[in-house]
Amino acid sequence: MSTSTNVTCPECGGEFEAGAVEVGEIIVCPECSVELEVLGTNPINVGLAPEEGEDWGE
Ligand SMILES: [Zn+2]
Repeated sequence: MSTSTNVTCPECGGEFEAGAVEVGEIIVCPECSVELEVLGTNPINVGLAPEEGEDWGE
């Protein structure tokens, strides 16, 4: 199965391929180095990861 996951960075607008990711995974934009949290995979949806070092729990 080929998984081509193109992500558009909400911070810088750059596009990059994230490969196989899972919801909740943190990926780093190669363009601006911002941390992005994967919110959904079908279709791919990412948001800025919380920058605070707080414990969000579950
Ligand atoms: Zn970026």
